[in-house]
Amino acid sequence: MATTKKQETPTKPEGADPVDVDDSADAEATVGDSDDTAAPADDGDEDTLVLQEPMNPDAALAAPTVEAPAPFPDDSLDAMPGGSGLGAPGKGFGVGGLTDVGRVRELNEDNWHWEPLNGDTALYAVADGMGGHDRGEVASQVAVETLFDSARLRLEAISERDVPTLRKLLREAMQTANRAVVTMGEQQDSNMGTTLCSALVHKDADAYIANVGDSRVYLVRKGELQQVSQDHSLVAYLVQLGELTEEEARNHPSGNILVRSIGSVPEVEIDLFHVAVEKGDRILLCSDGLWGEITDHDMESILAANPNPQDACRVLVDTANANGGRDNSTLVLINI
Ligand code: CA
Repeated sequence: MATTKKQETPTKPEGADPVDVDDSADAEATVGDSDDTAAPADDGDEDTLVLQEPMNPDAALAAPTVEAPAPFPDDSLDAMPGGSGLGAPGKGFGVGGLTDVGRVRELNEDNWHWEPLNGDTALYAVADGMGGHDRGEVASQVAVETLFDSARLRLEAISERDVPTLRKLLREAMQTANRAVVTMGEQQDSNMGTTLCSALVHKDADAYIANVGDSRVYLVRKGELQQVSQDHSLVAYLVQLGELTEEEARNHPSGNILVRSIGSVPEVEIDLFHVAVEKGDRILLCSDGLWGEITDHDMESILAANPNPQDACRVLVDTANANGGRDNSTLVLINI
């Protein structure tokens, strides 16, 4: 968790915004597409403050930059189903992903994964574990694995692929991941927790985004970066309430406090977004170790200069490290 965070785009444009927000807290509810804006204010159900491990500046001297292996060999990129909406098939093109421990932390607590769930739907996720020596890396791994297991099973069990069905599927898979982390924390008497953001992309040009925590999902359209998800951090809420400026939030000592996380309560509120993606769009999922070290402007420049998603991931991580690398940085980039 970087202690300095960027809040470049705390609100989303409305009107022509391709993103629909579903801010329902009810795991069973399906909310019709509307121009609702997300309600980031605390509704009283999510008052758990999760204090993340402060970074250890002394570790910078001891810990070399170690890149964790990608969860798939390069060849698996060829397995990405082709067709509209899921990007061009072919090695190294369509989706990229990377995780890096950074230049300060000793442990990489992030996790990520992507996987085609069937011929027309693929799931992508990034999780940022919290707790330091309280097994944050286990929390992020359990959350990601459970998300994919649950989504895979649920997708096999449904015949409809309409918006409410897929949105409900994603919400329930996120909730199942939350319960798995809660259960493991109880079993191990641990306060483990994690962020979890995910994108379920259907070949018919729809993406369903889910988020808990302050990992982010961006839509990159015509070179412009738009933050789809909203951060569930104390400073993000204070900015939205007008009590902090974005500049103050960036250097705020409480920048590492989350107000919502996976693993903290048995039934977590999940933000859902529906994005009507277009060919040429890119979807970026990343942990705060990445977005906290690179300005939106620089991110846009790097993305524009690197059409190959794996190349873009490499340059983005290198840039985060060059700018300090104060936290683990993890990202998945999808070319639609
Ligand atoms: Ca982090």
